[in-house]
Amino acid sequence: MNACRRTGISVVICAPSGTGKTTLCRRLLQEFPNIVLSVSCTTRPPRAGEVNGRDYVFLSREEFLQKREAGFFAEWAQVHGSFYGTPLAAAWNLPAEGKDALFDIDVQGAAQIRRCLPAARLVFLFPPSRAELERRLRARGTESEEGLALRMATAARETAQARWFDFWIVNDELEQAWQELRAVYVASTLSPSLCPQFQAGPAAEWGL
Ligand code: ADP
Ligand code: 5GP
Repeated sequence: MNACRRTGISVVICAPSGTGKTTLCRRLLQEFPNIVLSVSCTTRPPRAGEVNGRDYVFLSREEFLQKREAGFFAEWAQVHGSFYGTPLAAAWNLPAEGKDALFDIDVQGAAQIRRCLPAARLVFLFPPSRAELERRLRARGTESEEGLALRMATAARETAQARWFDFWIVNDELEQAWQELRAVYVASTLSPSLCPQFQAGPAAEWGL
């Protein structure tokens, strides 16, 4: 019997580009059907294999700015020269429907989510070293030399913000990082504040 149909949680994952955030987020989404990725809007062009509406909603700069003016975004930021934004609907509706919302966003966006959703759990993912980060970015083969230098410079600024996050995970061995992220997620779903039905039923029986 499932005695506890709980409220959804919000999990934000930040990492310097190339750390392995997408890899780990995909795994979380595969293993836990209750987690739904908040699909961001972006003005950057799609990479090979990316699907509009699944990975991002790809917009022109004009379309993005129109939506921004109309109050469509819970947060937005400019990253590596492109605009990115989280639709308000994902930030508010998913947890209210009992779904856990996963936000793959940058540190500027994480700071805004912390202000509007104070209960969100914020995870910062580190690469094991600068050299390994650069190796992974090169191995992914999606960046020009200019794009690579930009990402390495942004990485230093982003890691300087890691202190105010709730959890730190180093993505050295993928399997260990995965077990740690999994543990963070599962533990975050066990807060008593998320279980209204439990509080009305068994919790009342035990005088809680
Ligand atoms: P991000 O979303 O953070 O930019 P990706 O998930 O695209 O990063 O990963 C960047 C590259 O590093 C990919 O080629 C991915 O397969 C690889 N990668 C991810 N995690 C690890 C790891 N623990 N060890 C080695 N390579 C990794
Ligand atoms: P990429 O272009 O490599 O997919 O993403 C670049 C950076 O933008 C990553 O750090 C990613 O997490 C971040 N990002 C993706 N979507 C959003 C969003 O909606 N808002 C913010 N603030 N950052 C985002």
